[in-house]
Formats: sequence, C-alpha cells, structure tokens
Amino acid sequence: MVTITHPGRVIYADLGVTKQDVADYYQAVMKAFLPGVAARPVSVLRCPEGAAGDCFFQKHMMKGLHHVRGAKLTERGGDSAIYLCLDDAEAVLELVQFGTVEFHPWGALASDPDRADLMVFDLDPASDVKWPRVAAAARLVRKLLGQVGLQSFLRTTGGKGLHVVVPLRPACTWTPVKDFAHALADALARGWPDEFIAQASKSQREGLIFVDYLRNARGATSVASYSLRARKGAPVAMPVRWDELGKLKGGDAFDIHTAVQRLKRQRRDPWEGFDRIEQGIEGIDTSPLST
Ligand code: ATP
Ligand code: MN
Repeated sequence: MVTITHPGRVIYADLGVTKQDVADYYQAVMKAFLPGVAARPVSVLRCPEGAAGDCFFQKHMMKGLHHVRGAKLTERGGDSAIYLCLDDAEAVLELVQFGTVEFHPWGALASDPDRADLMVFDLDPASDVKWPRVAAAARLVRKLLGQVGLQSFLRTTGGKGLHVVVPLRPACTWTPVKDFAHALADALARGWPDEFIAQASKSQREGLIFVDYLRNARGATSVASYSLRARKGAPVAMPVRWDELGKLKGGDAFDIHTAVQRLKRQRRDPWEGFDRIEQGIEGIDTSPLST
C-alpha cells in the first residue's frame, strides 16, 4: 500500500484537482496505462507545488522509493546510473506520492536498452499552425510509413501536437532506427516544404510543423499513453484509432475527466494489435520515400 500524504494539495488550480485526484486518476486508468510504461526506464515530471509551479524531470532512482525498481544502465560517458523503472501499480502511486504528474518512458526495455522496440514521430506545430494541418500531417506520416510497409499508431500528446508511434518487433539497435527516422523526416520536409521542417532550429519553424525524429535515440523519451500533462486543464496523452483523427479538436482533446469516461466506455484498445505486430526497418526499401 502506498499512502498519499497531503491528499488535498491542489495540483491543477484551474480545476481544483488535488494530489489525491491525481492518484485516483492513475488508479482508474492503471490497467491501460501500465503496459506502456512497465519494464522501461522512465523519466518523470515532478511538480511538488502543482502543475503551475516549478516542475522538474527526474530519471534517476532516489532514496525513499521502495516500490519503484531501479535499473542500472550505462550513461553516455560510460559511467552507470540507476534509472527509474516501474513494474506495478504501487510503483506508479509511489511516484505520484513523490509529486509526479507526467510519465515519459524510453522506446526500449530496461532489460534491452540498446535496442528500440518502438519509434516515435513527434509532430510539433508552430503556434500559428491550425489543427487541421496537424491532423493532415499525421495522416501523411502514416501514409509514408505504410509505403515502406510499416504500421503506425496515433496518440494525442495532451499538448499541441500528435505522436505517430511505430512498434518494432524484434527490437532494433538505435543507429538504424535513428537513421530511418531522420530519413523519413527529411522526406517529409523535402516533399512538403510548406508543411514540414526537419531541423530543430526554432527560428525557421514559423508556419510549419517540426517533425521531431530525435525522440528516436537511446535515452530519449516520449510521454506515455494515458499520462497526465502538467498543463492547464489537466490534459491527458491519449492513444486513439486513426479513424478518430477527423473528429479530434486538438492534441489536448482529452483530460483527467474525459479520459476516464472514455476508458470506461471503450470496448477495444484503440491500439489493438500494437503488441503483436512483427515489423522492422532492417533491410527496408526506403526508395518510396525519396520520390
Ligand atoms: P506537444 O504535443 O505539446 O509537443 P510533447 O509531449 O510532444 O507535447 P515535446 O516538447 O514535443 O512535448 O517533447 C517531446 C517529448 O520529449 C516529450 O513527450 C518528452 O517525453 C520528451 N522531453 C521533452 N523535454 C524533456 C526533458 N527535459 N526531459 C526528458 N524528456 C523530455
Ligand atoms: Mn511534441
């Protein structure tokens, strides 16, 4: 059992959502949430003074955690460190007790950190890009992936954009994954220069959607499906079916309340099949991308 101290502490002042409400939220979505974070190194965004206060990312284990498993991993410099890794509901709630609002897993398992088992295309629209263009951009990413034989899945981020997620089975070493993601982002920017930009430089992004392929590297993270976001309105990152995209109003279409309602009504996992698909990028013919 994890005890939530200061249960009445307000985390989302705009909604009056408390720390206990955050714990109850994760408890309510746990069955759907856990498979996306379990057994992976996870960075958490902690907001001890609430979502509008100072929040900070944490990736390493700390004193006082008894349910969270530490995973020893090698870091860039060659030293090793103990990363946060969750296996069960208690670990999730323990991190909420420590002020966690958001959960951001790696695209790899802690037991196999050098190989990606998923790829994420993070579509980041500049502030002047209207939503229908973001939706169309996601459809185009899906189409291009389909042209090289890859199935993909869609997630609202709870923020401005969308994530297009590609499962890789068997898992694949990071270098070819990174190269493929870069190639796809370049193909988008070259083929649709009025819509996409593949360079991270902020200055040239006006009016464009940045395809952030850099999520696809060892140690990089993406927000977990069903994670809350520490932003106004308590939005949630939500996996959706491709045929729902047309009626979505934005990346923040779901929140702490509607996410729970949706899950209750939901008969089928919107990402049905995600865990069974066998597909990879090794030996893939990328020539459809360069035309
Ligand atoms: P939005 O749709 O608003 O862009 P997002 O989750 O995609 O939402 P980004 O700022 O585009 O937000 O970041 C993409 C991903 O990069 C995040 O989901 C997060 O996992 C990761 N990320 C960003 N900044 C950090 C950080 N400082 N530490 C760890 N991970 C980060
Ligand atoms: Mn993004």
